[in-house]
Amino acid sequence: MTRLTILEYPDPRLRTRAAPVTAVDAALRELIDDMFETMYAAKGIGLAATQVNVHRRLLVTDVSEGHTDPRVFVNPEILARDGKAVGQEGCLSVPGYFDEVERAERIHVRALDRNGKTFEADLEGLLAVCVQHEVDHLNGRLFVDYLSDLKRQRVRKKIEKERRLRAEGRAGETSRAPAI
Ligand code: ZN
Repeated sequence: MTRLTILEYPDPRLRTRAAPVTAVDAALRELIDDMFETMYAAKGIGLAATQVNVHRRLLVTDVSEGHTDPRVFVNPEILARDGKAVGQEGCLSVPGYFDEVERAERIHVRALDRNGKTFEADLEGLLAVCVQHEVDHLNGRLFVDYLSDLKRQRVRKKIEKERRLRAEGRAGETSRAPAI
């Protein structure tokens, strides 16, 4: 398995709208495995293909504590949204920044699994937030887009600082919320 490079805001490639996956084959499953390895290594709970510069509609999640709930969503569609929930979000492509975002509390999703089989699921809580966040990535949208312009400027400054700290080999700010 290969650890992939995660694109970081404000990289314009994160604004690409991903195209549908046309074949769930061995090459796609290899990409899925690499995405899990990349996500786990970065201590994230979700990763969209867009974030590793592959512009196909594919995302992986694992919101468990011990890597015990890996889920794959190929060509995901959110068919229904219900309720509202505001929670802290972070993003592997916006390292070191966390803020509140309003999402639907529950969603109904249809997607293909890693074998190309269609499934539907009702999701809630953190997993529902995670899938909404990742589907946004596939549409070229980032969670910081929900913030005010002023806050977004702060985000860019903070990320630059975070990058400097990492370049100097110092740890950045410890996360307050899981990065998606
Ligand atoms: Zn993200």
